[in-house]
Amino acid sequence: MADKRDYYEVLGVDRNADDSTIKKAYRNLAKKYHPDMNPGDKDAEKKFKEASEAYAVLSDADKKRQYDQFGHAAFEGGAGAGGFDFSGADFGDIFGDIFGDIFGGGGRRRANNGPMKGANVRTSVRVSFEEAVFGCDKELTLNLKDTCGKCKGTGAKPGTSPITCTKCGGKGQVVYTQQSLFGMVRNVQTCPECSGTGKVVKEKCSDCYGTGYIQRKRTIQVSVPAGIDNGQSIRIRDKGEPGINGGPRGDLLVEVLVSRHPIFQRQDYNIYSNAPISFAVAALGGEVRISTVDGDVLYDVKPGTQTDTKVRLKGKGVPSLRNSQVRGDHYVTLIVQVPERLNEEQKELLRQFDAATGDTLKRSADANKSEKHERKKGFGEKVGEKVKEMFEK
Ligand SMILES: [Zn+2]
Ligand SMILES: [Zn+2]
Repeated sequence: MADKRDYYEVLGVDRNADDSTIKKAYRNLAKKYHPDMNPGDKDAEKKFKEASEAYAVLSDADKKRQYDQFGHAAFEGGAGAGGFDFSGADFGDIFGDIFGDIFGGGGRRRANNGPMKGANVRTSVRVSFEEAVFGCDKELTLNLKDTCGKCKGTGAKPGTSPITCTKCGGKGQVVYTQQSLFGMVRNVQTCPECSGTGKVVKEKCSDCYGTGYIQRKRTIQVSVPAGIDNGQSIRIRDKGEPGINGGPRGDLLVEVLVSRHPIFQRQDYNIYSNAPISFAVAALGGEVRISTVDGDVLYDVKPGTQTDTKVRLKGKGVPSLRNSQVRGDHYVTLIVQVPERLNEEQKELLRQFDAATGDTLKRSADANKSEKHERKKGFGEKVGEKVKEMFEK
């Protein structure tokens, strides 16, 4: 230990040197003596080790303080033969950015040249309201990346083939070892020469310009399931971009855009609509025809039905995506139509009706002073068959 050189001397800096000066000095030495740059040179390796040790101490405020005070003795007898105990230090923190600078960064990125799934492709398909409710089959025409037929995806001109990357030896990763106070440390990064593929194309394929892919128009069948809602996507496996290094293709994600319906509105699995009913049917009750996604149905309107009455047509809604046997309901708001144009006969009948109703209302009002309530109750009671016929037309 006695022959150990002074750390400041090793790095060639003044005792009062600041952090950045120390770092700069070490960076220069590391570059000069790094084992990768000096294969087999024992002297360089020794110098690299020495400089790294000095930097590990002087770049750490605590260690530096101890060293300034006690010299090498500060670390002697601490942890066995080496006398160093830097177990709390993080090699990556100390040297990481420096070697990143020297060797081109990217050290933290995980290299991968194994099979990788291709990227997903997104597209959309437009369907009608009814098609979304009951499901349908659609055909999509898309430009999809395909493996180039000419070069079989290698990207190399036919007759030639990609050569194994000389920088990484085909591994797709560059491993360099660094001598540290904790022993040899391996650092792995994606090979910059072949971008991790392990192969380099010397003469490019003329069809795909070396990419290995070509765009091809493809027709794809999409089965739109019953019950799908606007904005939901269908995943079609293996119809995305080709995989990398023999990995599986990505998926095609088809967003379903549902057109608006002139009558029906949808919320979750329920359908909502309005249905006009005549004044007479509202008063007397009777059957009305209501449109549903299953076609028209006849609904029995109760006598004395008010406008804005909501009725439920059970099971006439949208089938559940999970189980098409389960369906939502259809809610219909009955809107009482007030006739806009009347002929003389109709007017006369209405006047008679009004007069008769007026009497009823007057008597009711006298009876319990609740005209509004009685109007509801009495409405329609006095309307004759003739009036009903008239408004049904
Ligand atoms: Zn090609
Ligand atoms: Zn490579």
